[in-house]
Amino acid sequence: MDLYEYQGKELFRRYGVPVSDGRLAMSPEEARAAAQELGGQVVVKAQVLTGGRGKAGGIKLADGPDEAEARAREILGLDIRGHVVRRLWVERASEIAKEYYLSITFDRGAKKPLFMLTTEGGVDIEEVAETNPDALSRLHVDALEGFQPYQARRLIYGAGIEDPGEQKQVLDILGKLYAAFVGADAMLCEVNPLIVTPEGEVKALDSKFTVDDNALYKHPEIAEMRDLSAADPQEALARERGVTYVKLDGEVGILGNGAGLVMSTLDVIALAGGRPANFCDLGGGGDAQGVVDALEVVTGDPQVRSILFNIFGGITRCDEVARGILQALERLAIEQPIVVRLDGTNAGEGRRILEEASPVNLHPVPTMLEAARRAVELSR
Ligand code: GDP
Ligand code: MN
Repeated sequence: MDLYEYQGKELFRRYGVPVSDGRLAMSPEEARAAAQELGGQVVVKAQVLTGGRGKAGGIKLADGPDEAEARAREILGLDIRGHVVRRLWVERASEIAKEYYLSITFDRGAKKPLFMLTTEGGVDIEEVAETNPDALSRLHVDALEGFQPYQARRLIYGAGIEDPGEQKQVLDILGKLYAAFVGADAMLCEVNPLIVTPEGEVKALDSKFTVDDNALYKHPEIAEMRDLSAADPQEALARERGVTYVKLDGEVGILGNGAGLVMSTLDVIALAGGRPANFCDLGGGGDAQGVVDALEVVTGDPQVRSILFNIFGGITRCDEVARGILQALERLAIEQPIVVRLDGTNAGEGRRILEEASPVNLHPVPTMLEAARRAVELSR
């Protein structure tokens, strides 16, 4: 789960990572009031779950309440790469002498948290990694040993931070950011830029914070931060029904049981010259209700022109799945044609159930390749 900048900064504050004082505003009037309360120059920042807001015109300085209101009017409603701005973070403006970059991610390859620190901040980190890899100080942390001060010093020297005052503050921030990363079960904590003010104060000017979905049950107060209005409606429905759903860009909706079968179904659709619109994994269960839920999610995607239902019954029983499909057809107004391939446990019975009912837009097909061809044909 990705957090907005202001939510990430709230967690930073809790763990002692220094951030500027600010207020959330949902309207130009609230932005004015926020600027009034904060006093002096403020920065009005679009809150969207994507980066590069500065370049897209989503971040503007304002000299007082009047200007803050005017800037808020400009930024609210702005479309930043498909994300419409509905929230603003109004923060006391900082003076910037230097921009550094700091992050911790979970490195799946090494199975360890990975720190990255560089004095070349403020820009795309991918660019730094490519053009100036030596400027990027990297360090893995052993989760059992924890993050040790000697490692923090190694990171700091590696990045080439030479000012003793900065070194001391960054050392402290590194420890606190690690505590935030572990404490919130994060997958990513990124600070870009980590700034140094002209007075030599180091603080986090931005926050990108991603929390592991599978750990949210431990953090109800973070789970509550989710903005349901920003989510794709199909993804929100899938989450609510406990359906594994991934949105893609084509025309064929895909349902299967088990990740492996679903992945190969995607391949076979491509082989047949089609493009998957999404996919849904029914998992090992595949009971009738699960099928109804999954079909509701997949058919609700307006890009879906046809559906390929690919089941290889193991634990999943094909007769259960067939009943689920019929129930779904009764309960939901499904307009798209559904191609069904059933194989494995109780496949014969499943096919018989479908044949007996023989609803109009259902196409039972014996093999996976034929099923894919048929589904692609019907999506045209
Ligand atoms: P991003 O573009 O989405 O990464 O948003 P950031 O929060 O990183 O802001 C982008 C840029 O806006 C920063 O790199 C700064 O140059 C500038 N900026 C943001 N906040 C302030 C501020 O308080 N004062 C000044 N002078 N510039 C700021
Ligand atoms: Mn940034």
